[in-house]
Amino acid sequence: MTIDWNAIRSDFPILKQEVRGHPLIYFDNAATSQKPYQVIEALVGYYERDNANVHRGLHELSGRATDAYEEARRKVAGYLGADEGEIIFTRGTTEGINLVAQSWGRANIKGGDVILVTEMEHHSNLVPWQMLAQQTGAQLWHVPVTDGGELDLEKLDGLLTERVKLFSFVHVSNSLGTINPVKELIAKAKAVGALTLVDGAQSAGHMPVNVRDLGCDFYAFSGHKMCAPTGIGALYVKADVLAEMQPWQGGGEMIVRVEFDKSMYKEGPARFEAGTPDISGAIVLGTAIDYLEALGRDHIFEHDTALVRHAMERMKEVEGVRIFGPEENRGSLIAFSMEGAHPHDLTTFANSYGLALRGGHHCTQPLMRKLKVASTSRASFYFYNTVEEVDRMIGILQDARKFFSA
Ligand code: PMP
Repeated sequence: MTIDWNAIRSDFPILKQEVRGHPLIYFDNAATSQKPYQVIEALVGYYERDNANVHRGLHELSGRATDAYEEARRKVAGYLGADEGEIIFTRGTTEGINLVAQSWGRANIKGGDVILVTEMEHHSNLVPWQMLAQQTGAQLWHVPVTDGGELDLEKLDGLLTERVKLFSFVHVSNSLGTINPVKELIAKAKAVGALTLVDGAQSAGHMPVNVRDLGCDFYAFSGHKMCAPTGIGALYVKADVLAEMQPWQGGGEMIVRVEFDKSMYKEGPARFEAGTPDISGAIVLGTAIDYLEALGRDHIFEHDTALVRHAMERMKEVEGVRIFGPEENRGSLIAFSMEGAHPHDLTTFANSYGLALRGGHHCTQPLMRKLKVASTSRASFYFYNTVEEVDRMIGILQDARKFFSA
């Protein structure tokens, strides 16, 4: 199948604008993606026709909302290769990881146990484990990153002992672009009896992911990075692990029976979805999944890889630029610094030409310390971005170089 990516681009109304008199180049997709009109219309259509609370009312609209909400759960399950009973709707990756820490973690991690993470984690895969370690007396260890921006697998073997109860790591680094060898990491963790959590924030919308094939116990992702709105995401929990987990939040919808001194909880994902969920968000996450599956995640990955390769080559033409992360095997983003230009100033310069970059620590402060920088600039791509946009970025960076070195 050949995809006309330029035609696909016209599905995204937001991209048709000018910023500061220049066509918008949106290269901040690792922070959040744009939404196609199919998703926007599904959201509006839900509120125009079907809006009601789920599970409660026996009336027509509530039935429709409930059916669509559960249909969305089946779509997420299909998308990840899981069963619908293994999918919990969350606000996003951060909430999914906190759910695991506070539900599974509080029940299974004890003083002296080890929670293993890596040096390239986003704060959302660090802070919840620090909190859990403080609550339980466990220790938090990390796998170092090599100078080439990859996990130091030799060090991993020394760290993965039987004290490790959970190994939680990012699939694709949002700061380096590194695609981690998740299957291998999961197999190694299994060999010492540790459970595994994959932070899928940067992988779920960008490449084929099958949790059964990976063999992980938990996989968390955010809808907003894959064409769905903010405020919705999902957590996959392997069925036998989920069956043993206790709720982390109490309230409506997650109970079977409530008395004054105790309650009985529902089984399955509902046990972890207290209160009114983001119904419209979940439903249109399903729409976003339909959209991505029609394109094919393997095609998206191919497109993004070609774009990032082109960008890596052309960045070398810009003097004074240092690229972080591995040369090969990377996701669709490039973090870099430019000699003499603070990343924030560079972002402001780029913005004046309609180019949206990100400058900052990208919520990976420990990694920034390792790289010995306070922050970096980052260009991150998605399937609606083009080679021409990358070439325009190179021109803007060349102008920036002249400006900042003058
Ligand atoms: N992990 C990674 C690798 C990320 O890039 C992000 C978002 N920048 C997150 C976790 C957190 O995602 P969210 O803010 O949507 O919960």
